[in-house]
Amino acid sequence: MIGVLALQGDFAEHIAALQGLEVEAKEVRTVSDLADVQGLIIPGGESTALHLLLQSTGLDANIQASQLPILGTCAGAILLSDLGLLDVDIERNAYGPQIHSVRTEIMMNNQQVPASFIRAPKIIRVGPEVEVLATYKGDPVLVRQGNILAATFHTEVTNSTVLHELFTDAVLRESYCVCT
Ligand code: GLN
Repeated sequence: MIGVLALQGDFAEHIAALQGLEVEAKEVRTVSDLADVQGLIIPGGESTALHLLLQSTGLDANIQASQLPILGTCAGAILLSDLGLLDVDIERNAYGPQIHSVRTEIMMNNQQVPASFIRAPKIIRVGPEVEVLATYKGDPVLVRQGNILAATFHTEVTNSTVLHELFTDAVLRESYCVCT
């Protein structure tokens, strides 16, 4: 079972993507919701709001201590960095205002995958333990550090489930196999 943090942001789209893959999914709003999940998705949304909600629910410390495989998308990637789970520097809203949000395609797992950058952050430094799995215009946009996967784009608002397959396969098989 995969948990999707459901405090704010586009958690419903992530749950729909998981259900499309016939993967059991549940909304995570409290510390006790985390108890029976094998992996967690932190969705896109507004990272300041998400950060405050993580603090007020106590989920921040529990997620940090959980050692769960986590997929963070967009604001979720910012939070992974904030929580110290991903060794990157990341700049919020780095592509400019909403008018500069784009739907494009990136190469991921040897496939062209639709990717939406929505007020996206930019990863401006990756630590030595961080593997870059996809780039867009030269910038890392999909990275992995151990069992932490982070994308600065969204696929859950497209019809592609490649990112969710990558994550759920990894969680279920407990290993990542990414060919770039
Ligand atoms: N701009 C948002 C932030 O910085 C992230 C946007 C998103 O998740 N699509 O929090």
